[in-house]
Amino acid sequence: MRAGVDLGGTKIEVVVVGEDNQVAGQSRQATPTEGGPPAVVAAMAQGVKEAAVAAGIEPAELSGVGVGSPGEVSDGTVSHARNLADWEDVFPVAKELGDAVGAPVAIGNDVGVAVDAEAALGAGRDHHSFLGVWWGTGVGGAFVIEGKRWLGRGAAGEIGHTVIKLGGRRCECGRRGCLEAYAGRASMERRARKQADDGKKTVLFELMKKHNHTRLTSGIWQRALNKGDKVAERIVDEAIEALGAGIASAVNLLDTEAVVIGGGLGTRFGQTGVEQIEREMAKHLFVSERPPVVRPAALGDLGGAIGAALLAASREPVAAR
Ligand SMILES: [Zn+2]
Repeated sequence: MRAGVDLGGTKIEVVVVGEDNQVAGQSRQATPTEGGPPAVVAAMAQGVKEAAVAAGIEPAELSGVGVGSPGEVSDGTVSHARNLADWEDVFPVAKELGDAVGAPVAIGNDVGVAVDAEAALGAGRDHHSFLGVWWGTGVGGAFVIEGKRWLGRGAAGEIGHTVIKLGGRRCECGRRGCLEAYAGRASMERRARKQADDGKKTVLFELMKKHNHTRLTSGIWQRALNKGDKVAERIVDEAIEALGAGIASAVNLLDTEAVVIGGGLGTRFGQTGVEQIEREMAKHLFVSERPPVVRPAALGDLGGAIGAALLAASREPVAAR
């Protein structure tokens, strides 16, 4: 059996799978917001232990552990993981986590491994080419061309930092007008906070407190929309409009057969969100009579962790991922 760890900005999702990639055990931890990389690695180790126990084995019996991580992944290390607290410098995750759980650890880019899982087992299975857009804390992406993920020189797929508005909003990356500055959950939260501070009426932050969250999670956005919250509606509409423009531009460039929408918000809004994004895309598609198929990620919330477990199974060198 292998374990897969999906290291997210708000939670750490772990699965243990067998040969058939079916989930035999799982666990979920909140991502520590204090203590930097060592605290996060300790939480991942705890998650692996709990998922292994749920699957009826000891962690040391695992043949391997895969991790899908944000930030820059190189040779078993992670740096510049901006969605995690205090994680700028290079940290040896593979070594530290491997020591903690007693099994070999391979690391890949979080969105990349989730898209690999969709390509192998999910919504991308029937397509030679597709663009994966992971709409969550940030907006990540990866694309599969001729059945293989295109890596470029290692950083391909950063659709969140394609420019949708010249001189537009400031992005977390320090530049202006990026898709992520309009559609990333973190930037949506900043905008909601500002509007609440300016006296606009919204239930977003009440719901956040009521459900014991410190951030506006995808679930909170969904609840606010269900209550007809105008502030939430406007911000989500604007995010979808921005996604439509960014994704259509990528399709105009690559002409992929399909687009798969995943990530925390993407999975939460599911088919409804996909249809809204499709409508916004249609305005910008150059070959409008032949739009790509757009579908939600099929593996849901566990897709990233399942993809990470696939990484543990692969014998390719970590650096090539
Ligand atoms: Zn950016």
